[in-house]
Amino acid sequence: MSDGVRVRFAPSPTGHLHVGGARTALYNWLYARKTGGCFVLRIEDTDAARSTAESLQGILAGLRWLGLDWDEGPEKGGPHGPYFQSERRDLYRGEIDRLLAAGRAYPCFCSADQLAAMKAAAAEGGDEFQGYDGRCGRIPPEEAARRVAAGEPHALRFRTPGEGETILYDVVRGKCVFRNDVLEDFVILKGDGLPTYNFAVVVDDHSMAITHVIRGDDHISNTPRHLLLYEALGYALPKFAHLPMILGADKTRLSKRHGATSVDEYARRGILPAGMMNYLALLGWSLDGKTEFFTPKKLAEAFSLKRVGSNPAVFDPEKLSWLSGEHFVRLSEQEKLAGVLCQLAADGVIPAEPDEEERARVASLVKLLGKRLRSFGEADHRVWHFFRDLPEYDAEAVAAHLDGEAANTLAELAGRLEALPDFDVAGIEGAARGLAEEKGLGAGEIIHPLRVAVTGRAVSADVFRTCVLAGRERVLARLRGRAWEDSPGDLATPEGNC
Ligand code: GLU
Repeated sequence: MSDGVRVRFAPSPTGHLHVGGARTALYNWLYARKTGGCFVLRIEDTDAARSTAESLQGILAGLRWLGLDWDEGPEKGGPHGPYFQSERRDLYRGEIDRLLAAGRAYPCFCSADQLAAMKAAAAEGGDEFQGYDGRCGRIPPEEAARRVAAGEPHALRFRTPGEGETILYDVVRGKCVFRNDVLEDFVILKGDGLPTYNFAVVVDDHSMAITHVIRGDDHISNTPRHLLLYEALGYALPKFAHLPMILGADKTRLSKRHGATSVDEYARRGILPAGMMNYLALLGWSLDGKTEFFTPKKLAEAFSLKRVGSNPAVFDPEKLSWLSGEHFVRLSEQEKLAGVLCQLAADGVIPAEPDEEERARVASLVKLLGKRLRSFGEADHRVWHFFRDLPEYDAEAVAAHLDGEAANTLAELAGRLEALPDFDVAGIEGAARGLAEEKGLGAGEIIHPLRVAVTGRAVSADVFRTCVLAGRERVLARLRGRAWEDSPGDLATPEGNC
């Protein structure tokens, strides 16, 4: 077994890769990369009814998208496999037998109805302890063995001490003390022959030589059970680090109610993986309380478990977008172009395989938009007005700049633009400023309406260059068509795909 750091991410394939899971995976990955250790991916698929191949593929894709490559695990193999819990039953069985032989586990024959009745009676009697009352643990071992041999359905339970305390020294939370008298004899092997999470996680972390268990603090209440199992099985303890909760804006635990919580939704919206990684890293960790921008490489150099705090972190999608934008503006023009082409094709604005002319046009647009463009997902909204016949109009921009008077001036401007020998920046600018002067207007009183009429919005890149790239025909049609009078609306941010 290796004596270096070995950490693991252990998702259950029962849904999407969520922000919380992705943060757990990231912290494990960062710690492995920082220490030169090994990052293991283990799939906890013992809930056969809820585990799906689709979820598994989604989780693997999410990890790949984020750039969290694993050193051992599915599709990669490794010396501690198999990496699916459903394929490790023999190992669990062997450890179960050791516990049975030592009297630390026993078969429980109670039916679901009996268990429910037991709970209800405890609740009614106001008992503090409302867990399993341990009745099958009092069946003489020979009788229990006879009933098992006769094929009576049963689960296996771990015999907890019933008194004293179990103490966890957590890297993040410090010393945590748990009372043993409130811990029921919990199930380790279900009636269907599959181990429970609490049992399999201990056997696997030990047999995979995990040195640090880094996971969300939603598991901290399970940890005393794990500690008791480590002791009963004679395993050395790994270090534990329970990461702080992630909350929504209303300070309740982050959930679907707060909007998008799965990593693939953010990927679709055009958030960059490096931006997502950067943002997730800051949900519970900080280098110095102020540095916010980190490349993946810098994060792996800077990360330490010591600087993970125990206070809950609040998930702020706007900050995520901003940080992603900070990564985006640092991309090369080539990278931006590739992403924008992909996005526009996905939105059906340009063909999937654009010709040279189309590519060159998009390249000029990317150049023109420069730092205004902060995500591929935005490419559509920033760029579509160069391609589509009629833009949708932002109601606020229309109200501010396009009253009837302005519309008449634009119709006049259209006549002058039509007459220009060359439809270039100097010509368009000259025509607009000349008309403003003749009418005794400020230049802005023509330039702002022109911008809204051509782009649909009050903010855009240089309006004269925008007109050149949109093309004379399109600009004239917009100035004369007055489509903003029919369809002002709120411009929705399109979904990204790249
Ligand atoms: N399968 C568990 C989960 O998805 C993993 C918990 C752990 O890391 O111990 O929450």
